[in-house]
Amino acid sequence: MLNPEFVLRVIVFLGAVVIFSWIYWRIGTRLLGLFKLKIRNVFLLPIAAVLGGISMFLLLTVWVYHGFGYQPDIYRVGDRASNKVAITFDDGPSEEFTLPILDVLKELDAPATFFMVGKHVEKYPHVAQRIVEEGHSIGNHTQNHRNLPTLSTVELHKEVMEATAIITEVTGVYPTLIRPPRGMYDDRFRRLAKLLGQEIVLWSISTRDWRYGVTPIYIERFVDSRVRGGDIILFHDSGALVSSEGGDRKATVLSLANVIAIIRAKGLEIVPLAELLHGAPPEASPQVDRPE
Ligand SMILES: [Zn+2]
Repeated sequence: MLNPEFVLRVIVFLGAVVIFSWIYWRIGTRLLGLFKLKIRNVFLLPIAAVLGGISMFLLLTVWVYHGFGYQPDIYRVGDRASNKVAITFDDGPSEEFTLPILDVLKELDAPATFFMVGKHVEKYPHVAQRIVEEGHSIGNHTQNHRNLPTLSTVELHKEVMEATAIITEVTGVYPTLIRPPRGMYDDRFRRLAKLLGQEIVLWSISTRDWRYGVTPIYIERFVDSRVRGGDIILFHDSGALVSSEGGDRKATVLSLANVIAIIRAKGLEIVPLAELLHGAPPEASPQVDRPE
């Protein structure tokens, strides 16, 4: 299991903790000198080490969930000036929850996007096919739903490419959207997604329907209090806290019809993700021949 890449990253991480701790320790000793406090370094060292560890952890969290610098390749939200909203489901397909979700979407004529886990597509190919047949968009959510930044490059590529192949084979549609599990990504993932022509889409509202004991009312109120134009709303039609399947998504299923009604009552339009991200669909724009 120990690959050189992983070992290198652990070394870099620990090295950074040491450097951070050293900086805190230096600041600490300066302050002690400044205020002429007589506290032995014995106390200062563990404090500096803990602060160093916390700093590195925070930095790592920011890196994994938000990245650093300009990231035009990552979508978190659509146009805030529009009245468009997109609904997305992660971790499926499943028989227990995806099927009733599809029923609700059909009944209310609402489009959605399903970010599917490759091994679940293998397990429930008919559900994946129904998603596509009913006009919904699909996206890649990797093969086994592992935390990508912790993987070796070979494993990371496998996670993304295997799911791409299986989704395409089963549904006949190439996924042009991708969402990393738990929203954790790194530069290797971004480069690969670009190479594969899969746009990285995160979300602006997580309904937190994965939480234990969540109720339909909670989800409805949560969306009601937050939703506005441009939002990408995240639901789950499968998954679990630890494993990739087995979580209870009854609240998601039961809240969906009301959530759609709430969104529409605000004058917002539920559109496919691609339309939210790229404006009007091509067929809706007038074909104009413009002279050079
Ligand atoms: Zn997920």
